[in-house]
Amino acid sequence: MNYKTKYKQQLADILYTTPNNIYFYWKGRVALYAILKAMGIKNGDEVILPGFTCVVVPNAIKYLGAAPVYVDINKDTLNTDIEKIKPVITEKTKVIICQNTFGLSSQVDEIAAFAKSKNIYTIEDCTHGFGGSYNGKPNGTFCDAAFFSTQWNKSYSTGIGGFSLINNNELNGKIDELNQYLIKPGFIETFSLQLMIKAKETFLNSSNYWRLRRIYRLMSKAGIVTGSSKDSELKNTLMPVGYFKSSANIQLKTGSKNIQNLNHLLTIRKRNAILYTELLSSAGKYHVKEELHNNHSFLKYPALVSNRKEFEKIAEENNIVLDNWFCSPLHPVDDKFSIWELNLKSVPIASEISSQIINLPLEMENISEVLLFMKKNINMFV
Ligand SMILES: *Cc1c(COP(=O)(O)O)cnc(C)c1O
Repeated sequence: MNYKTKYKQQLADILYTTPNNIYFYWKGRVALYAILKAMGIKNGDEVILPGFTCVVVPNAIKYLGAAPVYVDINKDTLNTDIEKIKPVITEKTKVIICQNTFGLSSQVDEIAAFAKSKNIYTIEDCTHGFGGSYNGKPNGTFCDAAFFSTQWNKSYSTGIGGFSLINNNELNGKIDELNQYLIKPGFIETFSLQLMIKAKETFLNSSNYWRLRRIYRLMSKAGIVTGSSKDSELKNTLMPVGYFKSSANIQLKTGSKNIQNLNHLLTIRKRNAILYTELLSSAGKYHVKEELHNNHSFLKYPALVSNRKEFEKIAEENNIVLDNWFCSPLHPVDDKFSIWELNLKSVPIASEISSQIINLPLEMENISEVLLFMKKNINMFV
């Protein structure tokens, strides 16, 4: 069996589907774009999405000439509620995107059923929730289609990479047709990705982590390495040259290998999340509520701090490795939101959360030092 066949089967087993419904791409955002296009999204259409997402999501919508319509989030779930979606539906609404933010799905079954009754498509942004489930059913299986990312910081990684799952089989033919136009990754970008994957394997657990992370960010900014986003994707809504790109063999090979570690990762993330919730809840601080843990796969653990700059500084001094996801409603862009048609006033909860959020480390075998650090600085938490 070749890598592609094997990897498809591994994914299909987790997603309770057949391998024919899975399609690979260079990145998750490309999978989203293909789904939207297969759904016939075009000029003048509206696509509903959470106002607490990654900027590449509205980019894919804008590349097709459609308008992103943002909905504010619920403070506990960090997802959109169906009651917030209903009022923004118009006759132009063609798609609703449900995101399992940080690994948590909520109301996705209700939203999918509601949308179906209105002849509106649904897409699960499953870039955070792969491997988890909602009320016993795998994330990614609720909507007409779902897309997934295997970028550095996602459920498991192939450096960069992504795939889609098509649940509405009326769309498969269209996807097959579109995929004939995928561009093949170039030699240099593939080679550079391969080097990065090797480097990450070697240095991930190194004591030089912080230094390497900083070097990587600088190199990525300078365009020296194969980073997650092109500079232009964070500045405008014009489709970059070479955007519609297929997967490379190295991604499929790495995916097939790294996915075998997924269950282990899910287990330690969940276990650590319980410890964070215990500590934060007993101190009366913002936390992921106990009753949400069952449906949460904890790609990230969100906590809120009153002075993020200061908190990050102290954390780094203590060798606590934090993540900084969704420090803006359109991560990682932090100004000129009007380019993406986002008015911050329409997403007050997302704006407040993103100004205070930090992500606590989840993939460590032992977080006792992190817990100790948190206890010492508990007054900085909100
Ligand atoms: C990472 C991410 C994406 C895009 O994934 P890529 O593989 O980097 O294209 C989309 N949506 C959300 C919410 C993400 O966090």
